[in-house]
Amino acid sequence: MATAELHTYPHRHLLGIEGLSADEITVLLDRSEEYVDQNRRVDKKQSLLRGRTQINLFFESSTRTRTSFELAGKRLGADVINMSAEASSIRKGETLIDTAMTLNAMHPDVLVVRHPHSGAVNLLAQKVDCAVINAGDGSHEHPTQALLDALTIRRRRGRLDGLIVAICGDILHSRVARSNIQLLITMGARVRVVAPPTLVSPLFERMGVAVHHDMGSGLDGVDIVMMLRLQTERMQGSYVPSVREYFHFFGLDYQKLAAAKPDALIMHPGPMNRGVEIDTDVADDIDRSVIREQVEMGVAVRMACLDVLTGHLSNDPPRKAAAAE
Ligand code: ASP
Repeated sequence: MATAELHTYPHRHLLGIEGLSADEITVLLDRSEEYVDQNRRVDKKQSLLRGRTQINLFFESSTRTRTSFELAGKRLGADVINMSAEASSIRKGETLIDTAMTLNAMHPDVLVVRHPHSGAVNLLAQKVDCAVINAGDGSHEHPTQALLDALTIRRRRGRLDGLIVAICGDILHSRVARSNIQLLITMGARVRVVAPPTLVSPLFERMGVAVHHDMGSGLDGVDIVMMLRLQTERMQGSYVPSVREYFHFFGLDYQKLAAAKPDALIMHPGPMNRGVEIDTDVADDIDRSVIREQVEMGVAVRMACLDVLTGHLSNDPPRKAAAAE
């Protein structure tokens, strides 16, 4: 990576969108664009990360994120190891820090970590010598999801600033919502969140978003409709009266979508629960839904993040653990 670019992405890790400037986000999105083209070629492989080791450490289930980080690393030529909590010593009672220190001793260059607890990835990053990418921590942040969403929108609309984006559903428990709000506001978009009062807190207004409890007003005139899954794994007790009622008031169908701009894009980070937060025909609408494109952008964004965070590594002795982020 060129030295000039190092100055525009000065962080050692990618732990969240919070704290990134518009320029730093733009560096990552511009780099991702190059990888979109590479991924559409027959020969998708590069040797940029040859000799580098990437460990994907997943303490929570994942389909898209884990697979795309694996593909991303392999397409850049890294050696990629996948570890899941079920198959590791974590089940034998090893602490997160001990696991981190053990892996650190094997000299990985990048750790990609998903964990059910907010802040766990941050803690782990303070204990290791290598770059750490947050692949989702509890309901806190999921930075690469926000970046791939932004890339999808930017490619379709040519910009992010000035757009009106509605993020709908279980805002309270969603790391996707938090990362997207941070990114979109930093990039000059206007964000609304739409949810029943049980699934959003008025505190979100402090992040600079408008809170709506009705899909009619929330979707009125928006450019982008982003739907979220009910994060039942993070709920204790019941937050909605019934799935049927939830779909009736908050599930995206054509009737509710009519309030948005006629060309508004439909997005969803997956996994989708059809008939709960989104009607199946709307999800599959090839003119409006960019859900598959989000998955494609995910690989490119993760390649860009691996590139930017590890591409400059040399054969110098390992840096000291717990250096500033
Ligand atoms: N895949 C996203 C996440 O890991 C969204 C979801 O699970 O609903 O947060």
